Amino acid sequence: MDTIVTHVDYAIIRDILSAKMDTLYGIYPYTILPSNRVYTCPYHSEVEVGSAANDVHIYGDAVDMHSDSTTWQGLHDAAQNLDVRPCVEPQSQSTTNHVHMDFRTVSTSFYYRSSCPSGW
Ligand SMILES: [Zn+2]
Repeated sequence: MDTIVTHVDYAIIRDILSAKMDTLYGIYPYTILPSNRVYTCPYHSEVEVGSAANDVHIYGDAVDMHSDSTTWQGLHDAAQNLDVRPCVEPQSQSTTNHVHMDFRTVSTSFYYRSSCPSGW
């Protein structure tokens, strides 16, 4: 496998992700300002963040929405109640500084999986 040596100058943001982020922004307008992370290029993901090689953020299906201890639960629950249910990371893994959601279970996802991780 070739070593990734630099950042890329593009971002992938899938339609389903932007559409469902818009839905959440309508419910929780404060999330429109900060998202901690949406697309992460493979270099940044592996070398700088230290994520797994197949981090879902490199496929454009995931967002880390900024939250805190007062907003985390409401945002988490709203994400889980979307009409297309995303995978939503539990607080034990995300802490309260962000709510991670991704659409890996949508059949057109570049990172398609038939189900979310256990507990998501
Ligand atoms: Zn994430």
